[in-house]
Amino acid sequence: MSETIFNKIIDKSIPADILYEDDDVLAFRDINPQAPLHFLVIPKKQIATINDITPDDYTIVGKLSGIAALIVAEHGEADKGFRTVMNCNEYGGQTVYHIHLHVLAGKPLGWPPYQERLK
Ligand code: 5GP
Repeated sequence: MSETIFNKIIDKSIPADILYEDDDVLAFRDINPQAPLHFLVIPKKQIATINDITPDDYTIVGKLSGIAALIVAEHGEADKGFRTVMNCNEYGGQTVYHIHLHVLAGKPLGWPPYQERLK
């Protein structure tokens, strides 16, 4: 599996605005925010896509949501609400092949997210 830019953020060889870190999870602000609060929660272990998650990963993948909620609460946005998204592969819009939970908060978010008709 080839390394991604997120490995460089994990090993601190490139900077990021880190919001949370422990032994197995890192959360940092998205470089191109789509909401007033937009950050990514990633496992330090590289898992390329949701398709590559194995039962051994279920605990860490669940932890991403727990840490997301914790950070949103710290920013005072939990009661108003927020969105988490994990994109997968080309049709899902994934560009970095190291799974990451997008967390978007701080404004009302439209749904559905895109206006294209079902084809
Ligand atoms: P994807 O399209 O794979 O679901 O999301 C990748 C996200 O990573 C994008 O929202 C993009 O802005 C963010 N991103 C890509 N490169 C960097 C980077 O070097 N630093 C940070 N903080 N975010 C990045």
